[in-house]
Amino acid sequence: MTVTFTTKIVNILGDKTSKALTKAFGMERVEDLMRHYPRRYAELGALTDLSKLVPGQHVTIMARVKGAKNYSFGPGGRRTRTEVVVTDGTGELKLTFFQQAWRLKTMEQGTLGLFAGQVTVFRNEFQLTHPDFEAINESEDPTENTRLGRGVIPLYRSTSALPSWRIEDCVGLCLDALTDLDDPLPDSVRKKHGYFDMRGSLEAIHRPRNRQDYERARARFRFEEAFVIQTVFAMRRIAVEAETATARPEKPGGLRERFERRLPFELTAGQRDVIAELTHDLSGSHPMHRLLQGEVGSGKTVVALLAMLQTVDAGGQAAMLAPTEVLASQHYRAITTMLGDLAKAGMLGGAEGATRVRLLTGSLGAKARKESLLDAASGEAGIVVGTHALLQAHVQFADLGLVVVDEQHRFGVEQRAALADKSATKPHVLVMTATPIPRTVAMTVFGDLETSTLRELPAGRLPIQTSVVPVAEKPAWLERAWQRVREEVGKGRQAYVVVSRIGDTIETEEKETRSLLDVYAELADGPLSDLRLGMLHGRMSGDDKDATMTAFGNHELDVLVATTVVEVGVDVPNASVMVVMDADRFGMSQLHQLRGRIGRGSEPGLCLLVTTSEDGSPTRERLDAVASTTDGFELSKLDVEFRREGDVLGARQSGVRSSLRLLSAVKHESVILEAREDADAIVAADPQLTGHPVLASAVRALESTDQSDYLERT
Ligand code: ADP
Ligand code: MG
Repeated sequence: MTVTFTTKIVNILGDKTSKALTKAFGMERVEDLMRHYPRRYAELGALTDLSKLVPGQHVTIMARVKGAKNYSFGPGGRRTRTEVVVTDGTGELKLTFFQQAWRLKTMEQGTLGLFAGQVTVFRNEFQLTHPDFEAINESEDPTENTRLGRGVIPLYRSTSALPSWRIEDCVGLCLDALTDLDDPLPDSVRKKHGYFDMRGSLEAIHRPRNRQDYERARARFRFEEAFVIQTVFAMRRIAVEAETATARPEKPGGLRERFERRLPFELTAGQRDVIAELTHDLSGSHPMHRLLQGEVGSGKTVVALLAMLQTVDAGGQAAMLAPTEVLASQHYRAITTMLGDLAKAGMLGGAEGATRVRLLTGSLGAKARKESLLDAASGEAGIVVGTHALLQAHVQFADLGLVVVDEQHRFGVEQRAALADKSATKPHVLVMTATPIPRTVAMTVFGDLETSTLRELPAGRLPIQTSVVPVAEKPAWLERAWQRVREEVGKGRQAYVVVSRIGDTIETEEKETRSLLDVYAELADGPLSDLRLGMLHGRMSGDDKDATMTAFGNHELDVLVATTVVEVGVDVPNASVMVVMDADRFGMSQLHQLRGRIGRGSEPGLCLLVTTSEDGSPTRERLDAVASTTDGFELSKLDVEFRREGDVLGARQSGVRSSLRLLSAVKHESVILEAREDADAIVAADPQLTGHPVLASAVRALESTDQSDYLERT
């Protein structure tokens, strides 16, 4: 029988086992199992003796279960603690698990296993709390070919039904059965880097003889992941180069120039640099495809507006897409205000050669909607601002020249494509995000976009001061926080209170998460009862949201209690203080975004991160990091490290086909750079990959999964 990567595992492992693997990990084909790389290795030579434990040390020990028992405790005896005593012949150690009574079954007396965790001291005894555990199958001889004989035990991601050693057996069976092996890495590339061939690499990662074996194999598979992604991007870049767009060069004396002359502020050096790049791109006859990353508050909107005006001057139209109605309305208001008479074409007081700006969102009234549609289709509207409503098929443009997508991470590839289809030639595309991402993440995620960066804030901004309010240790500080809010309001300023949930307060084992409705009610009844409170969340109608936002913008409200609908872009310069409830529920970049809503005016902003997390816990470290720096780029880097890159890229950790298993977009910069160079060379020499059929199919597979969708969307 010929066995390849695409052979079904059921043909080799039988019905029962393959069903279990499908259920646990979604595995179907041999490749799925082969790509289920061990997540760690236990080297028998590096195990720790129980007689030599040191508190605080991370250890892996091989030991046998001596006894295990469940204990009930807590109110009504509803909680359980499982205590397991293990021994390795030199000593004993206690393992403790909370709320995991099922552990008892997997750790029967006599079970031999590997336990990994950090040594702690409790009541003068060493112990491991919630250690990692892998049972070892002892039914085999410790001869040369077994894991015990080799001295390195691969540890796989496993389930209670499929322990690591069972997966190892299945991997072994398939590896031995494989007759033909496909390698997406071209030979020339593989040899250049000195990697094992596919069989050697699989052997070395699944059945290593030593650490060098698996490290070399991991390096190769990591490179392979980067290489396939970079091949996708190299091919896309070539495709883009072949496309044509209408050139939209600058026009002397046009709207852009007139607007620039009357700007009430000096552009920052960074803004000028980015504008120069955009001017150049728009003047070319290839579609611009650029990502603008800007620190929160760095002034991206005005940069985009200049590009839009340049497009209008050249006879085209510009569309600006925002992720929410709140943001779309705000952009619309800001743009019409900034342009003044330049946006009043055909209206009383309109300037000579003026254009028109239109808004298009789902909740617009029928009349306004019709006017917007007509003006977009006739070309009367030079600029149309909107939400996803802009993407609908019946929205037509006379000559769409530029698409600006604000806060891109909410928009998918198809949506971008839908907009691009509204134009006879490909429009230029500018994607803006205030969620800065490290360079290599950008290269992995947006590898087909050129990037520009705005780090600098306009002069005169005062830094936002951020403090953690640890209510577990210092309950009185929360009262102090509300007092600060009242003080700011007393000075004529405004405040945000941000909450992570809308409906119900939830209580879990570890903590309680307050809901918006509860927080609102408590504040209105208690500490902020004398202030004008408003509420904003995603379940409100578009009109209600708009009315609330407008009221807050006009200072008819003092405090806005909101969910993360205020996360991006909202610009109310009079707001000076923000209290974030259950701040540990938010990512670091998200908190940075949130606090970017304050400190936009002439006074310093204050951001208070309320948390029940404990001093020294990882959650608390994240909050402390947010409090300690105002550099969004720095934070995003830390954020990625804390969250693990998988989440950043949207890779489904559980999905077999998720393509990033070993590659970290943050840590493996040099790998990504080399892969990009090699991929460019391969694609330049063979744009259709006719000479590399395996690579071509890996590229197709990547493009057809959700993953590649995510690769752009994140
Ligand atoms: P973001 O990059 O976060 O989208 P915005 O475009 O909303 O930032 O700009 C934030 C605020 O800064 C706006 O009120 C804008 O008018 C103002 N702004 C933009 N550029 C400058 C500048 N060069 N000098 C002073 N203020 C500026
Ligand atoms: Mg913005």
